[in-house]
Amino acid sequence: MPGYLPEEVNVGYVTNGVHYPTWAAPEWKAIHAKVFGPEFAIPHYDKKSFEGIYKIDDSEIWSTRCLLRKRLISKVKDILSDTPATAHYSPRQIVKIKKTLRDDVLTIGFARRFATYKRATLLFRDLERLNQIVNNPDRPVQFLFAGKAHPADKAGSDLIKQIVEISKMPQFIGKIVFVPNYDITLAKYLVQGVDIWMNTPTRPQEASGTSGEKAVMNGVMHFSVLDGWWVEGYKEGAGWALPMERTYDNQEYQNDLDSATIYNIIENDIAPAYYSKEMGKEYSTNWIRIIKETIAKVACNFTTNRMMEDYLERYYCPLAERRDSLVDKDYLKARENAAWKKRMYRIWPLIEIRQFDKIDMAANKLRLGEEHLAKAEVYLADALPEDIGIECVIAAQDARGEYHICEIHEFEVVSFENGVATYRADITPEHAGSYQVATRIFAKNPCMAHRQDFELVKWL
Ligand SMILES: *Cc1c(COP(=O)(O)O)cnc(C)c1O
Repeated sequence: MPGYLPEEVNVGYVTNGVHYPTWAAPEWKAIHAKVFGPEFAIPHYDKKSFEGIYKIDDSEIWSTRCLLRKRLISKVKDILSDTPATAHYSPRQIVKIKKTLRDDVLTIGFARRFATYKRATLLFRDLERLNQIVNNPDRPVQFLFAGKAHPADKAGSDLIKQIVEISKMPQFIGKIVFVPNYDITLAKYLVQGVDIWMNTPTRPQEASGTSGEKAVMNGVMHFSVLDGWWVEGYKEGAGWALPMERTYDNQEYQNDLDSATIYNIIENDIAPAYYSKEMGKEYSTNWIRIIKETIAKVACNFTTNRMMEDYLERYYCPLAERRDSLVDKDYLKARENAAWKKRMYRIWPLIEIRQFDKIDMAANKLRLGEEHLAKAEVYLADALPEDIGIECVIAAQDARGEYHICEIHEFEVVSFENGVATYRADITPEHAGSYQVATRIFAKNPCMAHRQDFELVKWL
Protein backbone atom coordinates (compact mmCIF):
# COMPACT_ATOMS: atom_id res chain seq x y z
CA MET A 1 0.00 0.00 0.00
CA PRO A 2 2.38 2.73 -1.19
CA GLY A 3 2.04 5.98 0.72
CA TYR A 4 0.99 4.28 3.97
CA LEU A 5 2.96 2.93 6.90
CA PRO A 6 2.56 -0.80 7.63
CA GLU A 7 0.53 -0.09 10.78
CA GLU A 8 -2.03 1.91 8.77
CA VAL A 9 -2.82 -0.85 6.30
CA ASN A 10 -6.36 -2.06 6.49
CA VAL A 11 -5.68 -5.77 6.65
CA GLY A 12 -6.77 -7.33 9.92
CA TYR A 13 -7.07 -10.89 11.16
CA VAL A 14 -9.25 -13.37 12.97
CA THR A 15 -7.53 -16.03 15.06
CA ASN A 16 -8.65 -19.60 14.41
CA GLY A 17 -10.72 -21.49 16.91
CA VAL A 18 -11.65 -25.16 17.18
CA HIS A 19 -15.01 -26.92 17.37
CA TYR A 20 -15.53 -27.77 21.04
CA PRO A 21 -18.10 -30.59 20.45
CA THR A 22 -15.66 -32.34 18.08
CA TRP A 23 -12.47 -32.05 20.10
CA ALA A 24 -13.43 -32.13 23.79
CA ALA A 25 -13.56 -35.65 25.24
CA PRO A 26 -17.03 -36.88 26.31
CA GLU A 27 -15.78 -37.12 29.92
CA TRP A 28 -14.85 -33.41 29.89
CA LYS A 29 -18.15 -32.49 28.29
CA ALA A 30 -19.97 -34.21 31.16
CA ILE A 31 -17.87 -32.33 33.74
CA HIS A 32 -18.27 -29.00 31.94
CA ALA A 33 -22.04 -29.47 31.68
CA LYS A 34 -22.17 -29.63 35.50
CA VAL A 35 -20.36 -26.34 36.16
CA PHE A 36 -20.24 -24.19 33.02
CA GLY A 37 -23.78 -22.93 33.59
CA PRO A 38 -26.80 -22.35 31.33
CA GLU A 39 -24.97 -19.83 29.11
CA PHE A 40 -22.70 -22.61 27.95
CA ALA A 41 -25.51 -24.98 27.12
CA ILE A 42 -27.32 -22.69 24.65
CA PRO A 43 -24.68 -23.34 23.15
CA HIS A 44 -22.71 -20.21 22.63
CA TYR A 45 -19.75 -21.22 24.76
CA ASP A 46 -19.66 -18.03 26.77
CA LYS A 47 -16.05 -17.32 27.76
CA LYS A 48 -16.86 -16.73 31.44
CA SER A 49 -18.49 -20.18 31.63
CA PHE A 50 -15.08 -21.85 31.54
CA GLU A 51 -14.29 -20.47 34.99
CA GLY A 52 -16.74 -23.07 36.28
CA ILE A 53 -13.82 -25.52 36.15
CA TYR A 54 -12.52 -24.02 39.42
CA LYS A 55 -15.50 -25.63 41.17
CA ILE A 56 -14.40 -29.16 40.23
CA ASP A 57 -12.52 -31.24 42.77
CA ASP A 58 -8.82 -31.73 42.04
CA SER A 59 -9.24 -35.50 42.33
CA GLU A 60 -11.92 -35.54 39.61
CA ILE A 61 -9.68 -33.51 37.28
CA TRP A 62 -6.83 -35.93 37.89
CA SER A 63 -8.91 -39.07 37.41
CA THR A 64 -10.26 -37.69 34.12
CA ARG A 65 -6.76 -36.91 32.86
CA CYS A 66 -5.58 -40.39 33.88
CA LEU A 67 -8.53 -42.06 32.17
CA LEU A 68 -7.86 -40.21 28.93
CA ARG A 69 -4.13 -40.98 29.08
CA LYS A 70 -4.90 -44.68 29.60
CA ARG A 71 -7.33 -44.68 26.68
CA LEU A 72 -4.67 -43.12 24.44
CA ILE A 73 -1.89 -45.52 25.44
CA SER A 74 -4.18 -48.48 24.91
CA LYS A 75 -5.16 -47.11 21.46
CA VAL A 76 -1.47 -46.65 20.56
CA LYS A 77 -0.76 -50.26 21.56
CA ASP A 78 -3.67 -51.42 19.37
CA ILE A 79 -2.32 -49.46 16.41
CA LEU A 80 1.13 -50.91 16.96
CA SER A 81 -0.33 -54.42 16.80
CA ASP A 82 -1.61 -53.74 13.32
CA THR A 83 1.51 -54.98 11.52
CA PRO A 84 1.02 -53.51 8.02
CA ALA A 85 0.83 -50.06 9.60
CA THR A 86 3.96 -50.52 11.67
CA ALA A 87 6.36 -51.88 9.06
CA HIS A 88 8.84 -49.26 10.30
CA TYR A 89 9.34 -51.34 13.48
CA SER A 90 10.42 -55.01 13.63
CA PRO A 91 8.14 -57.45 15.54
CA ARG A 92 10.73 -57.58 18.32
CA GLN A 93 10.79 -53.78 18.57
CA ILE A 94 6.99 -53.68 18.73
CA VAL A 95 6.94 -56.13 21.61
CA LYS A 96 9.53 -54.00 23.41
CA ILE A 97 7.63 -50.74 22.75
CA LYS A 98 4.34 -52.20 24.01
CA LYS A 99 6.05 -53.43 27.14
CA THR A 100 7.83 -50.13 27.82
CA LEU A 101 5.02 -47.63 27.11
CA ARG A 102 3.27 -46.67 30.33
CA ASP A 103 -0.03 -45.00 31.09
CA ASP A 104 1.09 -43.35 34.34
CA VAL A 105 4.07 -41.41 33.00
CA LEU A 106 4.24 -37.74 31.99
CA THR A 107 3.37 -37.96 28.28
CA ILE A 108 4.25 -35.28 25.75
CA GLY A 109 2.60 -35.27 22.31
CA PHE A 110 3.70 -33.82 19.01
CA ALA A 111 1.50 -34.53 15.97
CA ARG A 112 0.86 -32.51 12.85
CA ARG A 113 1.93 -32.18 9.21
CA PHE A 114 5.66 -32.66 8.86
CA ALA A 115 6.37 -29.38 7.15
CA THR A 116 10.01 -28.46 7.78
CA TYR A 117 9.24 -25.09 9.41
CA LYS A 118 7.56 -27.00 12.26
CA ARG A 119 11.00 -28.37 13.29
CA ALA A 120 9.73 -31.78 14.41
CA THR A 121 13.29 -32.94 15.13
CA LEU A 122 14.27 -30.01 17.34
CA LEU A 123 13.94 -32.30 20.36
CA PHE A 124 16.73 -34.54 19.01
CA ARG A 125 19.61 -32.09 18.81
CA ASP A 126 21.23 -33.40 21.99
CA LEU A 127 20.45 -37.09 22.44
CA GLU A 128 22.36 -37.35 25.71
CA ARG A 129 20.25 -34.58 27.32
CA LEU A 130 17.13 -36.27 25.97
CA ASN A 131 18.27 -39.64 27.32
CA GLN A 132 18.58 -38.13 30.81
CA ILE A 133 15.08 -36.67 30.56
CA VAL A 134 13.20 -39.76 29.34
CA ASN A 135 15.14 -42.17 31.57
CA ASN A 136 15.10 -40.10 34.74
CA PRO A 137 14.32 -42.74 37.41
CA ASP A 138 12.17 -40.41 39.54
CA ARG A 139 10.58 -38.30 36.83
CA PRO A 140 10.38 -40.26 33.56
CA VAL A 141 8.94 -38.63 30.44
CA GLN A 142 7.64 -40.31 27.27
CA PHE A 143 7.02 -38.75 23.86
CA LEU A 144 4.46 -39.68 21.23
CA PHE A 145 5.03 -38.43 17.70
CA ALA A 146 2.62 -38.72 14.78
CA GLY A 147 2.06 -36.97 11.48
CA LYS A 148 2.32 -37.10 7.75
CA ALA A 149 4.41 -35.29 5.20
CA HIS A 150 3.09 -34.11 1.85
CA PRO A 151 4.02 -36.90 -0.65
CA ALA A 152 6.09 -34.43 -2.70
CA ASP A 153 7.90 -33.08 0.37
CA LYS A 154 11.12 -35.12 0.56
CA ALA A 155 12.52 -33.04 3.44
CA GLY A 156 9.31 -33.61 5.39
CA SER A 157 9.42 -37.42 4.97
CA ASP A 158 13.12 -37.40 5.91
CA LEU A 159 12.15 -35.86 9.26
CA ILE A 160 9.78 -38.76 9.90
CA LYS A 161 12.54 -41.24 9.00
CA GLN A 162 14.90 -39.54 11.40
CA ILE A 163 12.39 -39.72 14.28
CA VAL A 164 11.67 -43.40 13.57
CA GLU A 165 15.41 -44.17 13.59
CA ILE A 166 15.92 -42.43 16.93
CA SER A 167 12.84 -44.14 18.40
CA LYS A 168 14.52 -47.52 17.72
CA MET A 169 17.66 -46.71 19.71
CA PRO A 170 17.89 -48.88 22.84
CA GLN A 171 17.73 -45.93 25.26
CA PHE A 172 14.63 -44.52 23.53
CA ILE A 173 12.62 -47.55 22.56
CA GLY A 174 9.12 -47.29 24.01
CA LYS A 175 10.01 -43.86 25.43
CA ILE A 176 9.85 -42.04 22.12
CA VAL A 177 7.31 -43.63 19.79
CA PHE A 178 6.29 -42.76 16.27
CA VAL A 179 2.62 -43.70 15.93
CA PRO A 180 1.66 -44.42 12.30
CA ASN A 181 -1.50 -43.60 10.33
CA TYR A 182 -2.09 -40.12 11.68
CA ASP A 183 -5.63 -38.99 10.93
CA ILE A 184 -8.46 -37.12 12.66
CA THR A 185 -9.35 -40.11 14.84
CA LEU A 186 -5.80 -40.56 16.10
CA ALA A 187 -5.51 -36.77 16.49
CA LYS A 188 -8.52 -36.90 18.85
CA TYR A 189 -6.95 -39.59 21.04
CA LEU A 190 -3.68 -37.65 21.16
CA VAL A 191 -5.02 -34.18 21.99
CA GLN A 192 -7.27 -35.66 24.66
CA GLY A 193 -4.81 -38.15 26.12
CA VAL A 194 -1.35 -36.61 26.44
CA ASP A 195 -0.38 -34.33 29.35
CA ILE A 196 1.52 -31.76 27.31
CA TRP A 197 1.12 -30.71 23.71
CA MET A 198 4.35 -29.47 22.17
CA ASN A 199 4.89 -27.19 19.17
CA THR A 200 8.27 -25.95 17.97
CA PRO A 201 7.79 -23.84 14.82
CA THR A 202 10.38 -21.54 13.28
CA ARG A 203 9.31 -18.00 14.17
CA PRO A 204 7.25 -16.41 12.68
CA GLN A 205 6.03 -19.05 10.28
CA GLU A 206 3.27 -20.70 12.33
CA ALA A 207 -0.04 -19.22 11.13
CA SER A 208 -2.03 -20.76 13.96
CA GLY A 209 -1.23 -24.26 15.18
CA THR A 210 -4.79 -25.35 15.84
CA SER A 211 -3.92 -28.75 17.34
CA GLY A 212 -2.77 -26.94 20.51
CA GLU A 213 -6.22 -25.32 20.73
CA LYS A 214 -7.78 -28.79 20.57
CA ALA A 215 -5.48 -29.92 23.38
CA VAL A 216 -6.34 -27.06 25.77
CA MET A 217 -10.07 -27.85 25.39
CA ASN A 218 -9.10 -31.07 27.21
CA GLY A 219 -7.03 -29.44 29.93
CA VAL A 220 -3.84 -30.50 28.12
CA MET A 221 -1.24 -27.83 28.71
CA HIS A 222 0.45 -26.27 25.75
CA PHE A 223 4.23 -25.95 25.51
CA SER A 224 5.31 -23.97 22.47
CA VAL A 225 7.37 -21.26 20.88
CA LEU A 226 5.41 -18.00 21.18
CA ASP A 227 4.22 -18.08 17.59
CA GLY A 228 0.85 -18.60 15.90
CA TRP A 229 -2.12 -18.83 18.28
CA TRP A 230 0.12 -19.20 21.36
CA VAL A 231 1.19 -15.53 21.11
CA GLU A 232 -2.39 -14.68 22.13
CA GLY A 233 -3.15 -17.85 24.05
CA TYR A 234 -0.26 -18.05 26.51
CA LYS A 235 -1.03 -16.89 30.04
CA GLU A 236 1.49 -17.20 32.83
CA GLY A 237 0.75 -20.24 34.94
CA ALA A 238 -1.36 -21.82 32.19
CA GLY A 239 1.25 -23.52 30.01
CA TRP A 240 4.84 -22.93 28.93
CA ALA A 241 6.43 -20.77 26.27
CA LEU A 242 9.68 -20.25 24.42
CA PRO A 243 10.32 -16.54 23.83
CA MET A 244 8.81 -14.86 20.79
CA GLU A 245 11.88 -12.93 19.71
CA ARG A 246 14.64 -14.67 17.82
CA THR A 247 18.02 -14.38 19.48
CA TYR A 248 20.06 -15.31 16.41
CA ASP A 249 19.70 -14.59 12.70
CA ASN A 250 21.55 -17.85 12.08
CA GLN A 251 18.88 -20.58 12.14
CA GLU A 252 21.32 -23.28 13.34
CA TYR A 253 22.27 -21.22 16.42
CA GLN A 254 18.59 -20.48 17.02
CA ASN A 255 17.76 -24.22 16.81
CA ASP A 256 20.49 -25.02 19.34
CA LEU A 257 19.26 -22.36 21.73
CA ASP A 258 15.61 -23.40 21.36
CA SER A 259 16.33 -27.09 21.91
CA ALA A 260 18.39 -26.29 25.03
CA THR A 261 15.47 -24.17 26.31
CA ILE A 262 13.08 -27.06 25.67
CA TYR A 263 15.24 -29.50 27.67
CA ASN A 264 15.55 -26.99 30.51
CA ILE A 265 11.82 -26.28 30.71
CA ILE A 266 10.90 -29.98 30.67
CA GLU A 267 13.56 -30.86 33.23
CA ASN A 268 13.22 -27.89 35.59
CA ASP A 269 9.57 -26.88 35.28
CA ILE A 270 7.26 -29.40 33.63
CA ALA A 271 8.48 -32.72 35.08
CA PRO A 272 8.83 -31.38 38.66
CA ALA A 273 5.34 -29.83 38.47
CA TYR A 274 3.88 -33.15 37.31
CA TYR A 275 5.68 -35.37 39.81
CA SER A 276 5.67 -33.27 42.98
CA LYS A 277 2.76 -35.16 44.52
CA GLU A 278 1.81 -34.15 48.04
CA MET A 279 1.87 -36.73 50.83
CA GLY A 280 -1.13 -38.99 50.66
CA LYS A 281 -2.19 -37.70 47.24
CA GLU A 282 -1.94 -39.37 43.86
CA TYR A 283 -1.39 -36.07 42.11
CA SER A 284 0.39 -32.77 42.39
CA THR A 285 -2.05 -29.98 43.31
CA ASN A 286 0.19 -27.56 41.46
CA TRP A 287 -0.29 -29.63 38.29
CA ILE A 288 -4.08 -29.62 38.70
CA ARG A 289 -3.97 -25.84 39.21
CA ILE A 290 -2.22 -25.44 35.83
CA ILE A 291 -4.83 -27.68 34.17
CA LYS A 292 -7.63 -25.54 35.62
CA GLU A 293 -5.94 -22.32 34.50
CA THR A 294 -5.50 -23.80 31.02
CA ILE A 295 -9.24 -24.47 30.75
CA ALA A 296 -10.47 -21.28 32.44
CA LYS A 297 -8.07 -18.78 30.89
CA VAL A 298 -6.86 -20.30 27.63
CA ALA A 299 -9.41 -22.74 26.19
CA CYS A 300 -12.25 -20.22 26.57
CA ASN A 301 -10.72 -17.93 23.92
CA PHE A 302 -10.25 -20.52 21.18
CA THR A 303 -13.65 -22.00 20.40
CA THR A 304 -15.11 -21.71 16.91
CA ASN A 305 -17.84 -19.57 18.47
CA ARG A 306 -15.36 -16.92 19.55
CA MET A 307 -13.90 -17.05 16.05
CA MET A 308 -17.33 -16.62 14.42
CA GLU A 309 -18.12 -13.72 16.73
CA ASP A 310 -14.88 -12.02 15.70
CA TYR A 311 -15.72 -12.52 12.02
CA LEU A 312 -19.17 -11.06 12.54
CA GLU A 313 -18.08 -8.12 14.62
CA ARG A 314 -14.95 -7.14 12.71
CA TYR A 315 -15.89 -8.02 9.14
CA TYR A 316 -19.22 -9.55 8.20
CA CYS A 317 -21.55 -7.08 9.94
CA PRO A 318 -19.73 -3.90 8.87
CA LEU A 319 -19.48 -5.30 5.32
CA ALA A 320 -23.17 -6.19 5.24
CA GLU A 321 -24.07 -2.67 6.38
CA ARG A 322 -21.80 -1.16 3.77
CA ARG A 323 -23.27 -3.36 1.08
CA ASP A 324 -26.80 -2.29 2.03
CA SER A 325 -25.85 1.36 1.81
CA LEU A 326 -24.12 0.88 -1.55
CA VAL A 327 -27.03 -0.94 -3.24
CA ASP A 328 -29.78 1.28 -1.78
CA LYS A 329 -31.80 3.34 -4.33
CA ASP A 330 -30.60 1.36 -7.31
CA TYR A 331 -26.89 1.46 -6.35
CA LEU A 332 -26.87 5.24 -5.91
CA LYS A 333 -23.82 5.32 -3.58
CA ALA A 334 -21.89 2.80 -5.66
CA ARG A 335 -22.46 4.91 -8.77
CA GLU A 336 -21.46 8.10 -6.96
CA ASN A 337 -18.28 6.49 -5.61
CA ALA A 338 -17.28 5.12 -9.00
CA ALA A 339 -17.91 8.48 -10.68
CA TRP A 340 -15.93 10.30 -7.99
CA LYS A 341 -12.95 7.94 -8.36
CA LYS A 342 -12.99 8.35 -12.14
CA ARG A 343 -13.07 12.14 -11.76
CA MET A 344 -10.21 12.10 -9.23
CA TYR A 345 -8.01 9.93 -11.49
CA ARG A 346 -8.43 12.59 -14.20
CA ILE A 347 -7.84 15.59 -11.93
CA TRP A 348 -5.01 14.22 -9.72
CA PRO A 349 -2.15 14.88 -12.23
CA LEU A 350 -3.39 18.48 -12.65
CA ILE A 351 -3.25 19.30 -8.94
CA GLU A 352 -0.33 21.56 -7.98
CA ILE A 353 1.11 22.61 -4.67
CA ARG A 354 1.48 26.38 -5.07
CA GLN A 355 2.96 27.10 -1.68
CA PHE A 356 4.04 24.93 1.23
CA ASP A 357 6.80 25.39 3.78
CA LYS A 358 8.29 22.03 4.64
CA ILE A 359 8.83 21.55 8.32
CA ASP A 360 12.56 21.57 8.74
CA MET A 361 13.50 19.33 11.63
CA ALA A 362 17.19 20.16 11.28
CA ALA A 363 16.37 23.81 11.89
CA ASN A 364 14.51 22.79 15.04
CA LYS A 365 11.33 24.42 13.81
CA LEU A 366 8.94 22.14 15.65
CA ARG A 367 9.36 22.38 19.40
CA LEU A 368 7.30 21.14 22.26
CA GLY A 369 5.20 23.90 23.78
CA GLU A 370 5.79 26.25 20.86
CA GLU A 371 2.81 26.85 18.64
CA HIS A 372 3.39 25.93 15.05
CA LEU A 373 0.92 26.72 12.28
CA ALA A 374 1.38 25.17 8.85
CA LYS A 375 -0.12 26.45 5.62
CA ALA A 376 -0.51 24.98 2.14
CA GLU A 377 -1.86 26.55 -1.03
CA VAL A 378 -3.05 24.05 -3.59
CA TYR A 379 -4.31 24.53 -7.12
CA LEU A 380 -7.16 22.01 -7.39
CA ALA A 381 -7.97 22.13 -11.14
CA ASP A 382 -11.70 21.30 -11.00
CA ALA A 383 -11.67 19.33 -7.74
CA LEU A 384 -13.44 20.72 -4.68
CA PRO A 385 -11.48 21.56 -1.52
CA GLU A 386 -13.20 18.69 0.32
CA ASP A 387 -12.00 16.18 -2.30
CA ILE A 388 -8.49 16.63 -0.97
CA GLY A 389 -7.03 15.84 2.42
CA ILE A 390 -3.69 17.12 3.70
CA GLU A 391 -2.17 15.82 6.87
CA CYS A 392 1.02 16.20 8.81
CA VAL A 393 2.32 12.89 10.18
CA ILE A 394 4.68 12.83 13.16
CA ALA A 395 6.38 9.45 13.48
CA ALA A 396 9.09 7.84 15.57
CA GLN A 397 11.53 5.10 14.61
CA ASP A 398 11.75 1.95 16.72
CA ALA A 399 14.91 -0.08 17.40
CA ARG A 400 14.47 -1.93 14.11
CA GLY A 401 14.24 1.30 12.13
CA GLU A 402 10.50 0.96 11.47
CA TYR A 403 8.32 4.05 11.73
CA HIS A 404 5.31 4.28 14.04
CA ILE A 405 2.82 7.11 13.91
CA CYS A 406 2.71 9.28 16.98
CA GLU A 407 0.47 12.16 15.92
CA ILE A 408 -1.53 13.11 12.84
CA HIS A 409 -2.66 16.71 12.31
CA GLU A 410 -5.14 17.20 9.50
CA PHE A 411 -5.30 20.53 7.64
CA GLU A 412 -8.55 22.48 7.26
CA VAL A 413 -9.69 24.57 4.31
CA VAL A 414 -9.67 28.27 5.11
CA SER A 415 -10.32 29.77 1.69
CA PHE A 416 -11.00 28.78 -1.90
CA GLU A 417 -10.67 31.23 -4.78
CA ASN A 418 -10.00 30.81 -8.51
CA GLY A 419 -9.35 27.10 -8.12
CA VAL A 420 -6.77 27.65 -5.37
CA ALA A 421 -7.54 26.39 -1.88
CA THR A 422 -5.67 27.42 1.24
CA TYR A 423 -5.36 24.82 4.00
CA ARG A 424 -4.08 25.35 7.49
CA ALA A 425 -3.19 23.17 10.45
CA ASP A 426 -2.04 23.71 14.00
CA ILE A 427 0.77 21.20 14.33
CA THR A 428 1.96 22.19 17.77
CA PRO A 429 3.46 18.90 18.97
CA GLU A 430 1.86 17.16 21.92
CA HIS A 431 4.67 14.71 22.74
CA ALA A 432 8.31 15.25 23.60
CA GLY A 433 10.94 13.20 21.80
CA SER A 434 12.82 12.80 18.58
CA TYR A 435 10.53 12.47 15.58
CA GLN A 436 10.33 12.54 11.81
CA VAL A 437 7.73 14.86 10.36
CA ALA A 438 6.25 14.69 6.87
CA THR A 439 3.10 15.85 5.12
CA ARG A 440 0.98 13.99 2.60
CA ILE A 441 -1.89 14.91 0.30
CA PHE A 442 -4.58 12.40 -0.64
CA ALA A 443 -7.89 12.08 -2.47
CA LYS A 444 -10.51 12.13 0.26
CA ASN A 445 -14.02 10.74 0.38
CA PRO A 446 -15.78 9.58 3.54
CA CYS A 447 -17.70 7.00 1.48
CA MET A 448 -14.63 4.84 0.91
CA ALA A 449 -14.45 1.64 2.94
CA HIS A 450 -10.98 2.63 4.13
CA ARG A 451 -8.15 4.94 3.07
CA GLN A 452 -6.19 2.35 1.11
CA ASP A 453 -9.28 1.73 -1.02
CA PHE A 454 -7.97 4.46 -3.34
CA GLU A 455 -4.30 4.84 -4.09
CA LEU A 456 -4.09 8.59 -4.78
CA VAL A 457 -1.69 9.77 -2.11
CA LYS A 458 1.55 11.73 -2.33
CA TRP A 459 4.09 12.82 0.25
CA LEU A 460 5.09 16.46 -0.09
C1 LIG B 1 -5.76 -30.11 13.95
C2 LIG B 1 -5.14 -31.00 12.98
C3 LIG B 1 -4.06 -30.54 12.20
C4 LIG B 1 -3.51 -29.15 12.29
O1 LIG B 1 -2.63 -29.05 13.36
P1 LIG B 1 -1.62 -27.80 13.52
O2 LIG B 1 -1.29 -27.75 14.96
O3 LIG B 1 -2.38 -26.57 13.06
O4 LIG B 1 -0.43 -28.07 12.66
C5 LIG B 1 -3.47 -31.43 11.31
N1 LIG B 1 -3.93 -32.70 11.17
C6 LIG B 1 -4.96 -33.18 11.91
C7 LIG B 1 -5.41 -34.58 11.72
C8 LIG B 1 -5.60 -32.34 12.83
O5 LIG B 1 -6.63 -32.82 13.56
